[in-house]
Amino acid sequence: MARCRLCRNEKKRTPAEIYLPAHRLPLCRQHFVEWFERYLERTIRSFRMFSRREKILVAVSGGKDSLTLWQALTSLGYEADGLFIYLGIEENSFSLLSRRAVEATAERLGRPLHIIDMEAELGFTIPDLRKKTRKYCSMCGSVKRYYLNQLAKRLGYQVIATGHNLDDEASSLLGNLLNWNLKYLARKYPVLPEEHGFVRKVKPLCRFTAKEIRTYAEIKGLPYLPESCPLSEEATRPLYAELMDELEEKAPGTKLRFYLEYLRKALPLFAEKRENFMDKALIKCERCGEPAVSSPCLVCRLKEEFKNHAR
Ligand code: SF4
Ligand code: ZN
Ligand code: ZN
Repeated sequence: MARCRLCRNEKKRTPAEIYLPAHRLPLCRQHFVEWFERYLERTIRSFRMFSRREKILVAVSGGKDSLTLWQALTSLGYEADGLFIYLGIEENSFSLLSRRAVEATAERLGRPLHIIDMEAELGFTIPDLRKKTRKYCSMCGSVKRYYLNQLAKRLGYQVIATGHNLDDEASSLLGNLLNWNLKYLARKYPVLPEEHGFVRKVKPLCRFTAKEIRTYAEIKGLPYLPESCPLSEEATRPLYAELMDELEEKAPGTKLRFYLEYLRKALPLFAEKRENFMDKALIKCERCGEPAVSSPCLVCRLKEEFKNHAR
């Protein structure tokens, strides 16, 4: 068995239990954790995501990505608190178990956790929404983004961090390229600046594969929920993610190269004309004051609809 590269530098002979093909790096468990946190720090710095003086709000779902992000940021000494949105998904006790995983992590990290109960805030849950529309997943995403932004502004967080990983970024990049979806391609950067009433948004795990994140979560003993949402629209893994996995298997490092080279070589081509690829002009929702493409915003409209329905 290969020896850990970093132990070898320290003149120890520890066998490597983990091999990172994309980095051609054999590591022992302890050095894997060190590598992971150092690489995360480098990612944060090279994309100028945030500094140690800023307050970060991490969107936590109870899955491996967001809990890993929260743990690793805290280990690195960042001031990161969590926000969990209780979606009311009872199937397989999904929301309840997710909430427990998040609460257990908050306790072990000793960091504040904010919880928003969707039903208390809006008068409906995701399963209620699902009965009304097939687009419930995209609306669920909008509701989550809305509360993240609103709470961050209200409580003075300068940055919102989400757990999107390299697999997510590379497969969505492939999908957007194959469909020449310029609007999404122009915004494909792991930092979205603070503008038009939106708090800065960052994706610090954008250079880590799902497998690397799972390894970190397991070594650290994070109490994450391995199951994904039972209401996911995608019965099977999307085609682009599978294609990227296959490429990575045959040519390790493809995902990272594809994504980083896009950011370095192609994304700057959009820079000058960025506004041409943006959504329609944003306005302020007349009811809640949040930025929106129309007023009232989607969340206020849904709230109203369900209130009328309940009468
Ligand atoms: Fe929401 Fe579940 Fe759809 Fe994710 S899969 S957007 S959590 S309903
Ligand atoms: Zn080692
Ligand atoms: Zn509104």
